[in-house]
Amino acid sequence: MTTLVENFPGWPEGIQGPELIDNMKKQAARFGASFQTAHLNAAELGARPIRLTTSAGEILTRTLIVASGASARWLGLPSEHALIGHGVSSCATCDGFFFRGREIAVVGGGDSAMEEALFLTRFASKVTLLHRREGFRASKIMLERAIANPKIALRPNTIVEEVLGVEDHEVKGLRLKDVKTGELCELAVSGLFLGIGHEPNAKMFAGQVDLDAEGYIKTTGNVLTTLNGVVVPGVFACGDVQDRRYRQAITAAGSGCMAALEAEKFVEAEGH
Ligand code: NDP
Repeated sequence: MTTLVENFPGWPEGIQGPELIDNMKKQAARFGASFQTAHLNAAELGARPIRLTTSAGEILTRTLIVASGASARWLGLPSEHALIGHGVSSCATCDGFFFRGREIAVVGGGDSAMEEALFLTRFASKVTLLHRREGFRASKIMLERAIANPKIALRPNTIVEEVLGVEDHEVKGLRLKDVKTGELCELAVSGLFLGIGHEPNAKMFAGQVDLDAEGYIKTTGNVLTTLNGVVVPGVFACGDVQDRRYRQAITAAGSGCMAALEAEKFVEAEGH
């Protein structure tokens, strides 16, 4: 869902996310990889072979690499939930177009929030960037770009208390709280975009591999999964589903390579 990826080595001008992935697919296909699209309903990671129940039927496999990534995080307000798809969104590239000439707000202080805010200035007349504290987590270059953009107004030390417009079934504004003074105020916007990070997509493996307190898959030896501290044979995890620290496309790709090498070593050691 990313637009321009600017920090993947080898593309000095940046590359569009979908194009990067398409290139990787073509490259993998050249070495004999085949692709199947399906939703995973259940997995028996302890079974030999490993058994996967998917929307495309059952898959039996000697080894499995979990690379299910992480999904956008929400604030958790009932009014926010009620208005998802009616002005509340976590994907600027998907929904930004609907806000042509409108005033909107973005929540977050990291690179995702900056990226969303900058992208949304193509459509919106004004973007207010709301962040819960004074300091921004975003990289210097992204923050500077946001500051330099005349359509973006940065508003630190501010949290969203409520999204207004539930009765009208569309976002009418936000009730904001200044965390320093406790003061409440309303901001009239027609859209709210969340750029507050991600949740690991690992729930479907709970109880079969160890997860940490935030739900990321725990790994040992970089990409080996464990259950109660003991390595789960043949099951590897890589990328954002197991990485809370770096979360970059290049580090995800790097750990994907490690997982592939481990998987190959595993099937070879089994005599295949
Ligand atoms: P981050 O975890 O870096 O930032 C999340 C931001 O959201 C933080 O500022 C955090 O606040 C805030 N936040 C989290 N939860 C809440 C909440 N409940 N209410 C209000 N605010 C909240 O995630 P990102 O997705 O921004 O970035 C992830 C990684 O991807 C980073 O390494 C980043 O550099 C990279 N990235 C790179 C891009 C690029 O190079 N173009 C584009 C996008 C991402 P606080 O700071 O207080 O914790």
